[in-house]
Amino acid sequence: MELPVYLDNASTTPLDPRVADAMVRCLRSRDGFGNPSTDTHELGRKAQAQVEAARDQVAALINATGGEIIWTSGATESDNLALIGAASYRRVRGRHLVTSATEHKAVLSTCRHLEQQGFRVTYLEPDRNGLIAPKAVKAAIASDTILVSIMHANNEIGVVQDVAGIGAVCREADVLFHVDAAQSAGRLPLDVQRQCIDLLSVTAHKLYGPKGIGALFLNRQRLRRIEPLMHGGAQERGLRPGTLPTHQIVGMGEAFELAARAMDQDTARIASLRDRLWDGIRTVPGVTLNGHPQRRLCSILCVSVGGVEGESLIFGLRDLAVTSGAACNSATDEPSYVLRSLGRSDQLAHSSIRFSLGRFTTSEEVDFAAASFRQAVDHLHGMLPDRHAIATG
Ligand SMILES: *Cc1c(COP(=O)(O)O)cnc(C)c1O
Repeated sequence: MELPVYLDNASTTPLDPRVADAMVRCLRSRDGFGNPSTDTHELGRKAQAQVEAARDQVAALINATGGEIIWTSGATESDNLALIGAASYRRVRGRHLVTSATEHKAVLSTCRHLEQQGFRVTYLEPDRNGLIAPKAVKAAIASDTILVSIMHANNEIGVVQDVAGIGAVCREADVLFHVDAAQSAGRLPLDVQRQCIDLLSVTAHKLYGPKGIGALFLNRQRLRRIEPLMHGGAQERGLRPGTLPTHQIVGMGEAFELAARAMDQDTARIASLRDRLWDGIRTVPGVTLNGHPQRRLCSILCVSVGGVEGESLIFGLRDLAVTSGAACNSATDEPSYVLRSLGRSDQLAHSSIRFSLGRFTTSEEVDFAAASFRQAVDHLHGMLPDRHAIATG
């Protein structure tokens, strides 16, 4: 076992060696380096064939077709392109959007930007478990609502939203529905047809693929076009100009195909490791689980600890690569807005730890993490003047 133990798969995952092999093959071969947008010669066409095969691999995981996939640099860009692109294109129909207060910053900051451009945004507050009810979405839809954006699985607490239920509400109201599936793709079944999804953001580096490549699914039957964010060549039908990074795309395709094949097995194994970790720490005084106890992603376990300081706890967990509520919003010192919106106190939001497991996590690592956590919290509680204060946090 190598230290630190990597339990930060929700931030990014290590590259699967099979993905690395596919990428290296592409980088090293004469069939890979041509410009995939050049169809006047064979080498361009060979690169293009690889790009199109990867498009089909990504589409297959979400029950879409290759023609509905637009390559981007990652989920941040996909979220921006979906929201700004669709809102700008549909602005003649209306100026109102609906989202939730617990979305990723890539959605929330984009909504703030749209507000400055004259759009109105409703930010729905989740219940204390982190869930947004479809009927709350329905109630928020106004006559000028053009788009609803709700994430599938939350990146901090792992809560899984009722995407199909919300999709049905949006479809009935004839409002576009965007889903940020950066965390859920490959971990939960996704079906853009059945779930009535019009736009969907995914990224490779959360699913054992390379960083810097992602995709936006655009439902062509429901939305003919969106406004591009950038201007240039005709790549991706002008919706996302720029020379395509063939090796990145090949890596993403391979990662998504592997995920599709291994999903049932991977998620069952990872969920049982997550439960093993929870069993190892749940009896520690002051520990509470954040997020819905059942409707959760297999890979994320987010807990808060009463009576300890976030920074001290992270210091005590030096041998674990985990994120804390204190650090989730990195540079800022503010406690997690996701945990705050579940009604957690500043102290509990600050002293939260997110363990996120992945395909390469072992039971030995999980047991080590549980023991380190117990020891660190015991140590910090031992330093408290009043040990009875712990349980109430
Ligand atoms: C990681 C993440 C993003 C950003 O993805 P990048 O590919 O790093 O830009 C967006 N949304 C969610 C829910 C995420 O977890």
